Amino acid sequence: MKAAVFHKPGDIRYETVADPRIEDANDVILKVTATAICGSDLHIYDGFIPQTANMVPGHEFMGIVEEVGPSVKNLKKGDRVVVPFPIACGHCFFCTHGASPHCENSNFEHYGPEGGLLDEKGGALFGYTDLYGGYSGGQAEYVRVPYADISPRIVPDNMTDEQVLFLTDIFPTGWSSIDWAQLKGGETVAIFGSGPVGLMAQKAAWINGAGRVIAIDPLNYRLEKAKAVNKVETLNPNDVDVVEAIRQMTGGRGADVCVDAVGMEAHRNFFDKVKATINFEKGTDSVLELCFRAVRRAGTVTMVGVYGTPFDNFPLGQMFDKGITIKQGQAPVLNYVDHLLDLVKTEKVVLDDIISHRMPLSDVSKGYDIFKNKEDDCVKVVLTP
Ligand code: NAD
Ligand code: ZN
Repeated sequence: MKAAVFHKPGDIRYETVADPRIEDANDVILKVTATAICGSDLHIYDGFIPQTANMVPGHEFMGIVEEVGPSVKNLKKGDRVVVPFPIACGHCFFCTHGASPHCENSNFEHYGPEGGLLDEKGGALFGYTDLYGGYSGGQAEYVRVPYADISPRIVPDNMTDEQVLFLTDIFPTGWSSIDWAQLKGGETVAIFGSGPVGLMAQKAAWINGAGRVIAIDPLNYRLEKAKAVNKVETLNPNDVDVVEAIRQMTGGRGADVCVDAVGMEAHRNFFDKVKATINFEKGTDSVLELCFRAVRRAGTVTMVGVYGTPFDNFPLGQMFDKGITIKQGQAPVLNYVDHLLDLVKTEKVVLDDIISHRMPLSDVSKGYDIFKNKEDDCVKVVLTP
């Protein structure tokens, strides 16, 4: 089959690879009909998350069941499904405690309690390096889906791929960032990063009763997108002191909730780069520090932007003095996906309005390039095998 193949940072090619096959009785093989490039894929593409062997990337995909392993009960050939990105067994301690990204069984080689830099990671993800299970991803014509009775969700025939594709990752991820803050209604929510994940968090904030939603991003075209699709207020850190602006908008207090939807690959200045080199850090925690400053006392900061290393000078004292509540991690997609599919079915939310580029999978190298470099007003790339 044809697939995207990651060779090394900056080098993803469209190539012929071996077809996936049923390896376990619980597997299905899916014929992929749509797949997307995620900000998380960029961490591998940019070399922030290590991968030495060639790999088929992609954890946002959907398709049609082509072949079914002998013990699969919930799916049959021809079913059309979306597949949540964490690979979860469904019956271990973590899967039965609402924490499927920490599945004890899916990541045979590199799982453990430590959560270190290069060892003892959590559960596996599709197409997300050997450290996260070594499974091939869905930027391909076909993909093997293990534990097929647990994660895939059948989607209605009358909905297009684009309407439901983002249930695999970015909508549940944006939703997590808001659900973790447990809004009561009327809160001011400041969302750092107006990429695909930030845009989905904006949608989730409104649905969960926010009174004001403020989008922050240095790219004006992404702020324009946020205004157009989600009717939010916007701040560009190149134009204003974002923390001061948020305080001014909130009676001097700060936002009730700040969301970090950027992560370690935030735009960096010279000082950030020097500090990272000296401290063996990957990227910067500058957005998290802005969140700590911009949130009100006794407020909540949630982080869905990814971080990979320890960071020195972490503002622990400020976090304690302000009494900030923090919650972060890979999104527990399985906790939300059924409710979120209902929201899409009942037209309470539209997800495909963020798509900026549609391409054949054969153009995958170009897709990564323009998404990474934020060229051609790129917001979200959907690829068709
Ligand atoms: P993206 O790269 O398209 O978006 C990031 C946005 O942050 C860009 O628009 C960029 O301009 C903006 N940004 C950079 N520096 C900034 C700053 N200082 N202040 C405000 N905005 C700034 O990526 P994405 O697809 O939207 O993903 C965002 C993050 O979410 C990534 O770290 C990704 O890995 C992560 N993610 C996490 C999960 C999860 O389960 N936790 C799932 C999906 C994605
Ligand atoms: Zn993703």
